[in-house]
Amino acid sequence: MAGTTTMLGEETRTGSAGAAARLAEAADELAAEGRYEQAYQHLRTAVRLLTASGIDELERLRREHAEAREQSRRDSLTSIYNRRYLDEHLTALLGDGTVHNPKGVSVAFVDADHFKQINDRFGHRFGDRVLQHLAEQLALDLPPGGFCARYGGEEFALVLPGCDIASAVRTCEAVRHRIDVHDWAALDPALRVTVSIGVAHGVGPTTSVEQLVDAADTLLYAAKHSGRNAVAYRDERTGLVRLAGAAAARRAIVQPA
Ligand code: GH3
Ligand code: MG
Ligand code: MG
Repeated sequence: MAGTTTMLGEETRTGSAGAAARLAEAADELAAEGRYEQAYQHLRTAVRLLTASGIDELERLRREHAEAREQSRRDSLTSIYNRRYLDEHLTALLGDGTVHNPKGVSVAFVDADHFKQINDRFGHRFGDRVLQHLAEQLALDLPPGGFCARYGGEEFALVLPGCDIASAVRTCEAVRHRIDVHDWAALDPALRVTVSIGVAHGVGPTTSVEQLVDAADTLLYAAKHSGRNAVAYRDERTGLVRLAGAAAARRAIVQPA
């Protein structure tokens, strides 16, 4: 398709440029005969043709550039945003280290549980399809301004601007639950998919992208080591790691060092 567009664009340009060149030659001949009024009209038409094709060309290039930019920020397997988009937007959201939104920004890391076993049991291509369905479920019903990106492999990030830790935990628990009860049997009767999530919150001038990402990552591993299929977050009052929802009652909740 892109090739066709380019060809058409080239043809139009060549056509317009060719016609303009012929008009300019005719204008020269008319001027040589002293027919200046007609020569002038020919030149005017030539300039109009060249300007119009130039604007079309510019618009086409602008559109192609925007499409290429959008594609470079999408993950090829799942079509959701990729790591590049995540990095750019997190940096923009946190700006120069100051979170402008008074409620701050929450970032969650989501990792599919025992995904290697899914590949081993059902095959890598089937695993790819599971990742596509998973990405679709993760990106559903996020709060305004929120987005989901594939961080890499079977890991995803949710970015929730303007969400304090309590609302971010609620959103993540809803996501975890939706994936837990999703109709995975539609893909294969024996398939079960769960995710573990670590969610961190940043507000104020001291929060950096690295701090937020590291905190979410640490909490993700706390969720993994506390039995998986759970959302881990840090209690802002006590600093202790907790699990959301029913998992809060688990006995062994790992406290990272
Ligand atoms: P855990 O619960 O500790 O996260 O276990 P896990 O098996 O999910 O984690 P591990 O890091 O051992 O394995 C990740 C697996 O994800 C292995 C890798 O082949 C698979 N994986 C990563 N990217 C892709 C992909 O694009 N497609 C498929 N099908 N599998 C992928
Ligand atoms: Mg995993
Ligand atoms: Mg992983």
